[in-house]
Amino acid sequence: MDKHFVDAEKLSHELEQSSDLISIGTLCLIGGEPLLHPDLADVVEACANSGISKHVRVVTNGLPVSRITGDVWKNVDEVYVSLYGQAKLSEEKIQLFREIAEENQIALRVASYPQFRETFSQNPSADEALTERVFKACEVAHNWKCYTLDEGILYLCPQSLFIPRVQPEVKTEGVSLLDPKTTPQQIRDFLSRDTPLDACKHCLGSAGSLFSHTLTTIEKIGFNCPHHSTAI
Ligand code: SF4
Repeated sequence: MDKHFVDAEKLSHELEQSSDLISIGTLCLIGGEPLLHPDLADVVEACANSGISKHVRVVTNGLPVSRITGDVWKNVDEVYVSLYGQAKLSEEKIQLFREIAEENQIALRVASYPQFRETFSQNPSADEALTERVFKACEVAHNWKCYTLDEGILYLCPQSLFIPRVQPEVKTEGVSLLDPKTTPQQIRDFLSRDTPLDACKHCLGSAGSLFSHTLTTIEKIGFNCPHHSTAI
């Protein structure tokens, strides 16, 4: 997938328009890795001033924290640091988060994830009943309500945004918040749908098995990475 940074000014415009149609409890910046965004202060400010939500959460692995300068933290309400087994975050960086949280009155949560969950299958399921069961049991969509906003389109979950990008034959399904014809009822119907999305055929939702993660290298993955000068 190509490197992509959200444009803060465009985001601000899209969120402002969307605020006529939706209001949410917590607006999460999830990335990739949000702390790598070159204009993160402007992105956070756009979220805080959007009128969509009163609570802005940044979800991060914490590794780039010492690079952050400027006014990023003043508009953040919560930082959620996810710790992954082998990519250890030093005690020094965790302490830096504590200081940032105290200084800016930000809620800080640090959570450990010793395992990942399988969520994606390259081959679509041909078993409609199974896809329906995965969808019905999907906590991401129905319980955690990880609705995802990108380029003015509202998606039921992050997976239904990303799966069509890597599997182009999969239908992209979302509701445009920038279309003046979209109504609140259409949004409610879409978010409470009881039939699977096309992306669900490639997805295990919250039913995939757990596995331990390991750190790898570009060499081990063995592909030509556009962001590295070494062709493998
Ligand atoms: S694509 Fe995956 S995460 Fe999204 S609703 Fe379907 S099963 Fe759930």
